Amino acid sequence: MSAEELPTAPHTIHDWFHGYEEEGKLRGFTCPNCGLRTATWGLACQRCGKADLIEVELSGRGTVVAFTILAVPGDDFLNDAPYAYVVVELDGGGRITGWMPTVREASQMAIGDRVHYVPSYKPGVQFAKDSDARSAP
Ligand SMILES: [Zn+2]
Repeated sequence: MSAEELPTAPHTIHDWFHGYEEEGKLRGFTCPNCGLRTATWGLACQRCGKADLIEVELSGRGTVVAFTILAVPGDDFLNDAPYAYVVVELDGGGRITGWMPTVREASQMAIGDRVHYVPSYKPGVQFAKDSDARSAP
């Protein structure tokens, strides 16, 4: 691929981040060639390399596929630890990492738990368990 053929996109990584921080929406991309849906910003498909990805709003609901409990957090989360750091497979496609302040120890969570996105003033993507009555979807 020459420099003249580098992919372009109508979105920037700044737009993408502010999609969830300011609008309360999870944003991602769908490949017009192979249909892969991703929750990570990019200019070309991770699977087939096609450019001109289509920006889409992702589902705010999904299933936990991996998690750990963070006891030593970053500066923005000093008052929240311990909390769960999760990988969520969103309904309709796209895997995204997030954090869950309502889960404080591993015994409170399991792979396969259903979760939903909770817009927050904090950075990152916050989730809560569907079974958590304090933040029912
Ligand atoms: Zn593709």
